[in-house]
Amino acid sequence: MLRISHLGYRPRIYSRDDLTDLLAIGQTTTMGEAVADKVDAVVIGAGVVGLAAARALALSGRETIVLEAETTIGTGTSSRNSEVIHAGIYYPKDSLKARLCVKGRKALYAYCESHGVAYRRCGKLIVATNEAQLRDLSRIEKAARANGVEDIARITREEALAMEPALDCAGALISPSTGIVDSHGLMLAFQGDAEAAGAYLAFGSAVTGGQVGSRIIIDVATGGQRMRLSPRLLINSAGLHAQQVANSIVGLPPPTIPPLRYAKGNYFVLSGRAPFTRLIYPVPEPAGLGVHLTIDLGGQAKFGPDVEWVNRIDYGVDPQRGDRFYSEVRKYWPELPDGALVPGYAGIRPKLPAADGHPDFNIQGPETHGINGLINLYGIESPGLTASLAIAEYIVTMLDHSSEATKLALTPRA
Ligand SMILES: Cc1cc2nc3c(=O)[nH]c(=O)nc-3n(C[C@H](O)[C@H](O)[C@H](O)COP(=O)(O)OP(=O)(O)OC[C@H]3O[C@@H](n4cnc5c(N)ncnc54)[C@H](O)[C@@H]3O)c2cc1C
Repeated sequence: MLRISHLGYRPRIYSRDDLTDLLAIGQTTTMGEAVADKVDAVVIGAGVVGLAAARALALSGRETIVLEAETTIGTGTSSRNSEVIHAGIYYPKDSLKARLCVKGRKALYAYCESHGVAYRRCGKLIVATNEAQLRDLSRIEKAARANGVEDIARITREEALAMEPALDCAGALISPSTGIVDSHGLMLAFQGDAEAAGAYLAFGSAVTGGQVGSRIIIDVATGGQRMRLSPRLLINSAGLHAQQVANSIVGLPPPTIPPLRYAKGNYFVLSGRAPFTRLIYPVPEPAGLGVHLTIDLGGQAKFGPDVEWVNRIDYGVDPQRGDRFYSEVRKYWPELPDGALVPGYAGIRPKLPAADGHPDFNIQGPETHGINGLINLYGIESPGLTASLAIAEYIVTMLDHSSEATKLALTPRA
């Protein structure tokens, strides 16, 4: 078994020349262009999910290349989140989010322990800030138990205040299995495992288009040049750009590509000492979990993310949004001092439409779009970080159970 600590691990950086060397260019398309054909699997995107998928594919013996448009790992949503290991409380029963969060959380704690990735099982309180919200707590507790979150428990106002004296609430739920993780350390560990198992990460390599039919062909812009790859497996894990990548692939049925909306989440950090030792969440709001308090591993407290619908990717935080934060946070922390919140950072959720208001992860394989060897990951918002190992396992299992042609692609080359 591979045991690679991310501590002291120096990622290998591959250039375009390395990428060219790795691939045997010799085949041609009907257009007469050179196509590098000697690769089992290509993963688009080196966020936490793409890296977890690359790790799983490489560990299963596949020759794997990760194509990342940026110059390093995790510059997208994977470095713009709360770094919370979610228990799996809120998601509809049997949804992919519920199943993969609970499974992924267990796998993630074990992985952090065995690979030296920093984490803390700090627990969280979900607080009712008025009597009427006590009913919401009952509903949330029921949903959590249905999802397999067995350790969630109802506590009284007095019990909550004994745990967190700065808190004000009418009652709470405690979730002992919620925690926090060093997301960058986790990604480095995934990268280390993947590379040790033979995977290659090509940075500055953007997928610009492609075509699918009897084979998969993708166009890659790398170092001012263009190349074409024809992998047997293609995992589109491009996060906020997954739909854009899918739309650029000729032959992929457009109706299978779900519409996308961006729900920006802004954070404000607390100047001064964190008043709580656990994470504090109000009851959820539409499209988000409410303005909650999280603590990072360095003890820095931050509030957010809120929900701001936007049309483009812009990570600036408008200081004006802080006004609403004060009123929301004071519902459970009345002593929040004036002027204590400083604009922090923002992340963007790739939101899919959902009639019931609860969009699920949409992980599409051949049974949905009819293309052997292709998997598209859409709507990988929270709890994608928690679920990353489980998503990767799900992908490999999905490929394993699809058609004979795809199974072939999962068989390592001699
Ligand atoms: C505000 C916020 C808070 C969150 N909090 C939590 C939390 O506390 N816990 C939790 O479990 N989850 C949380 N999440 C969800 C979690 O962060 C995501 O699910 C996860 O990071 C998604 O990872 P990814 O690899 O799919 O996407 P990304 O990290 O966005 O990676 C996609 C990568 O693809 C690359 N790419 C894009 N287009 C191309 C292309 N054409 N060619 C090559 N590369 C390309 C990008 O550069 C990027 O590196 C949160 C999300 C948000 C927005």
